[in-house]
Parts: sequence; C-alpha cells; structure tokens
Amino acid sequence: MIQRKIEHLFVFLALLVATGVAAASPPSLALDISLEPATRQFEAVAIVRPMQRNFRFVLHESLNIRSVEADGKALKFVALGRDGALQRWRIQLPAGSETLQITYGGTLQALQNERDHRSVLRAMPPMAAVDGSFLPASSAWYPQPAPMFSYRLKLSLPADQRALVPGRLLEENLPAGANGRYRASFEFTRRSDGIDLMAGPWRVREKIAPQEGKTASPALRLRTYFPAALDAEPGLAEAYLEDSRRYIERYSGEIGTYPYSEFSVVASPLPTGFGMPTLTYIGVDVLKLPFIRASSLGHEILHNWWGNGVYVDYARGNWSEGLTTFMADYAYKEGAANDTSRDMRLGWLRDFSALSIEARLPLREFRSRTHSASAAVGYGKAAMLFVMLRDQIGEKAFRQGIRDFWSKNQFRVAAWQDLQLAFEGASGRDLKTFFAGWLDASGAPKLEIREAWLKPSSRGHQLDVVLKQQGSPLVSHLPLELSAGSKRETRWVSVKQAGEKISLDLDFRPQLIRIDPDIRLWRHLDPQEMPPILRQWIGAPAPRLHIAASGAAAEAAANLAQRFFEVKPQSISGPALAGELTTGGPLLIIGTHAELAATLAAAGLPGPPSELSKRGSAQVWTLVRPVGAPLAVVSADDAAALQALARPLPHYGGQSWLVFAGAKNVDRGIWPVAGVSFAVRDATIGK
Ligand SMILES: [Zn+2]
Repeated sequence: MIQRKIEHLFVFLALLVATGVAAASPPSLALDISLEPATRQFEAVAIVRPMQRNFRFVLHESLNIRSVEADGKALKFVALGRDGALQRWRIQLPAGSETLQITYGGTLQALQNERDHRSVLRAMPPMAAVDGSFLPASSAWYPQPAPMFSYRLKLSLPADQRALVPGRLLEENLPAGANGRYRASFEFTRRSDGIDLMAGPWRVREKIAPQEGKTASPALRLRTYFPAALDAEPGLAEAYLEDSRRYIERYSGEIGTYPYSEFSVVASPLPTGFGMPTLTYIGVDVLKLPFIRASSLGHEILHNWWGNGVYVDYARGNWSEGLTTFMADYAYKEGAANDTSRDMRLGWLRDFSALSIEARLPLREFRSRTHSASAAVGYGKAAMLFVMLRDQIGEKAFRQGIRDFWSKNQFRVAAWQDLQLAFEGASGRDLKTFFAGWLDASGAPKLEIREAWLKPSSRGHQLDVVLKQQGSPLVSHLPLELSAGSKRETRWVSVKQAGEKISLDLDFRPQLIRIDPDIRLWRHLDPQEMPPILRQWIGAPAPRLHIAASGAAAEAAANLAQRFFEVKPQSISGPALAGELTTGGPLLIIGTHAELAATLAAAGLPGPPSELSKRGSAQVWTLVRPVGAPLAVVSADDAAALQALARPLPHYGGQSWLVFAGAKNVDRGIWPVAGVSFAVRDATIGK
C-alpha cells in the first residue's frame, strides 16, 4: 500500500476545475529542521512559496508558530478554527513578495509503538522517540504551500541518529565525534502531495548500481536504514540492496525507466508497510521474514511507478493497488517454477465470496485498504480485472498498454479511464463495456452450462453449447475445457448475451465440458470448486470443537483452540460427536494420535489422508465432504506437539492440510477438487 494525503488531492482537483492553474512559479517549500528525538523537540524554518497570496494552511497542535516574515518584515499570522488536532492558520502575503519565512516548532508526541498494523493506517500525529521518529505527511508537520508542490529539506539530528525524506539526497555530513550532528539535505523536484519524515538510530548501508540503458543518467543509490541488531543479521541488508536493484531493473524494463535516482529500505518501529517515492518504510519485526523480500519489497518498489509515479485520482477510484498486486505479488506466482497463480486467483474469489452482500462494493468505489472487505475488491478483484484484460487483448497489447499508460501519465493524476484509453490504443479495441462492467458491477456473475450436445460435421464433430449467465457484468470472453479420458482441450469463446448457443468444431469427441476450470474469470464460485481451507474454521461465526485427548494434552488442545478460532467454539462431547457430523457449523476435532484414531473410528470417519500419515509431530487436515458438516482434524504426538501449534497454525488459513515438526511447518497443500463438469450428450443417439 502507499501512504498519501487523500483529502489534498480532492482539493487540488477542485481548484484546477474552479480557477485553472495560474501560479507563475510553482508552489514550493524549503525546510530547515532540527530534531532531538530524546526530548522530542522539533524546530523548523520554512520558506514557502504558496499557491495563493491569502495563504491558508494547517499545522499539528503540537507545533507553534514563532514568527513569520516576508522580505525581512514581520507579518501577522492569524489562527482560524481547528479540525481535531489540526490548527488552521492564515497569512496574507504582501504585494511584491513571493515567499514567506515561517519559524515554528514544538514538542512532538511520543512514538505510539503500541499501534498494530491496522491502526497505523489511520491518522497519526508527528511522533518522535530515540527508537524511531515518524512525521507522516498527513499529520501537518509543515505548512503545505499547495496540494502539489516541490521541496528542499535540510535536516540536523544528534550524532547517533539518521533521517530521511523521499527524494534525492543532495548532501550528507556525518557527525564528527559523539557530540557532532548528522546533517543531510534532500530535494524533490517533481510534484509531491506530501512529505513523510523518518528518523532512527540506524546503520546505513549503500550500494551504487548503474542504471540499465541510462548511461547518461546518474547511477542508482540503494540504501538500507536498519537498526544495529537488524543490520547485524548476516547478509540481510546486502540481500535487500541486491533485491531492490533487481526489482528496479525488472520494472524499468517492463514499464519505463525508474523515475528516481535512489531507493531506500527503511526500518520502522511501527508495523507499517508503506511505499513512498524513493523508499519503503517497513516494520522492523517483519523485515527478517522471507516473504517481505520475495513479494512485499517488489510491491512497494512498483508503487514508485503506480501511485507515486502516476498519481491516483482517489475521487474516481484507486486503480494502483490492483495494478501493483497484478504486476508484483501475482506476477511472482506466475513466474515461479512452481506456478501457484491459480491458487491466488481462487483465493481472491473465495475472499470475495465470503463477503456479505453489503460489503461487495463496486471496484470503482475502492479508495484504500481500510478493512479486509475493501481489500478483497480493491486488491483481489482489481488484480483479476488485469488478468482478464490480458487474456482478452493478448500479452503483447497488454504490455504495450502498460508502457503507454506510464509514458502518457507519469507525474500526473490518472483514473481508470486513462488505463482504458492506454489499453484501447495498444489493442485497437473498444474496451468501454469491459471496464464499465467490471468497475461498476458489485457482484460476480454466475456462469452455467445448460446443454451440450455433439453431432457429426464435415470437419469431425460439432459441439453445441448453451451457456447461461446470471448477474452482471456479462462475461463476453470465456474458456471452456473439453475432455475425453485424459485428453483435455481449452477453447476460448466469445458471447454477446446471457443465454447464448455457441458451436465449436472439434476433431475429437469430448465427454465432459467445464467452464473456466483454471479460474481466469471473476465469477461466482460453485461450492464444489472450493476445496476446504482452514480459514472456514478460523473465521466461522459458529464453530464447534471436540477434544479427543486427556490430561495435559486436553489442556494444550483447549489452548490451541482458543488461539485458533476468532470466536469461542461450542464444545461437543464424545458421546454426542457421531450425531453432530451431518449438520451444523464447521467442526474441529483436536487430539493425540491414539485417542483421536479411536474417536474417528467410533464416529465412522476416515483416518489421516496418506499425504500426511505418520509425518512430523502434528498433522492438520480438512475433509472433502460433499454433504454433512465441514470437518477438520488436528492430530499430534502429545501435549507439547499441540502446544507448539498454537502460534503458527492460525497463520495458515489458506491451506487444506499441513504437517508440523514442532512449531515449524514442513509441508502443506490445498486439496484438488473436481469442480463442476457437464456431460456432453450425443445428439445422434435417441433420434
Ligand atoms: Zn500497495
């Protein structure tokens, strides 16, 4: 995700419409800042060239204006009303003056490091601490000259601190001795909509990489800003530098040259995952996890193009998370030796199918990730839109569309409409219906085969298929899989209406036909297409629990269940178990191997599937059952093996089965399911 000031873009767009852009010299800001994290003292001198002579701005309540002058003359500054923690101010720029000097400062709030990953997405004040300071753009820690502006910034901090803002590092002076100061200056010459300032007790590592194909351009400055303990992890910082270089090279090739001269990975004391121009600010606790380098880093780097390179017109919908997810997280799955991209597409549809009807907002209404409901649409559905678009216009046109969208819109505000135009230009096709359909419909269409019959034709066989679609939008381009024994063939067909008969010429006699078995469409999933996964138990509104263990193991099982379920499960006793299997909410059976085996046998249930049997210290599996209550089982060696699952297991909601050795997951998977097939009828039989 990216950190932005949404409200200011609205204002900016409104101003463009109302007045046109008139300023002779663009709005800009120069800041000279000193920050003492230990005392949280912040002092600044701002030189502002505002967009309007009647300059109105906000500052956080922790900051006070000390003086204002223009061309050496003191000016009045007027406090207006307040918006929550923000004080509104007004200063009139005298005739003949273009810039104001505002001296201000105060004691910042302490770093709120109790914030969890959800609450860091909400408004935060400017905060300081020795462990790390974060002054988010949205906290109004500087007088903003206009919704979009350029800036220069000088920083001064105690010797053991480092600090940075997005932009080019112009100059850096390392402290001479423990009583010296760290000084650095930065410049952001593109239009920016806000400045995030970060400081911390960091060790800085740097790698200078030549930019591919940009011989005349300066080399790329890659940096890590890690606290000492993280920096001491063998090879970690170096790996971040190399992976950053690799991602930047990849996207420069796919989209267009990286628009900046640096990129930094900055450790945050808060559980953030923010992408800003030229840097990413990631929670120190997660930087060690392998998936951060494997996917999150690439996602945040890609935001230098999508979101921080081409800006989002939030009022008209946020396309950048979907496009970034598609070209980063999803593309890495497609490109892996073990391609699990189908699992990801299935996951998006499952997440959506789990939403209530009210939570299924149209994609065009997605603004940012505020709760998981909007993530299922703004990330999952949006990424699937790009999967479908590429299937429809082809890889070549799609790639061209991406490059055209970048070259036409870089450092401008763009909307879905601009993406549509770029892909229409690249493919030569009218994509109005496609975009309108997927952006404005709130649900997912349901596709069914009503009839399929085969008759002889001059070229072999003719298959006639009647398709039915319910809900919107109409899926006009869809894959059908035809199979006979082990032979499978996929045909993409085009349709124009919801109930249409289509004819296919074939050189073999298919027995079965399926719609979209590879899940390449945003559509309603049939329950038979959804293998059971643990999330159905974890998040169940009325889960049930049976414990097949005694003594310490029973206690460990109860503790595991408490960590596992989001709500307290209903307890099912041994004698009642057999009667509870046919109906009711998801049921989890936890036990030790011997007691569990006896319980399963007594209830007429099968033992562990062969994939898991006798492996590790604990096995977890769901049962594929066409009828009856959803069932899952945890079978472990003993109390210690059950205890070891309490922390890791809730993190594996996307899996059907798992094997653990202690707390370590050693194998896992999603059960294959048959899906929904339709039998092809032979039209010559019975005539
Ligand atoms: Zn993102």
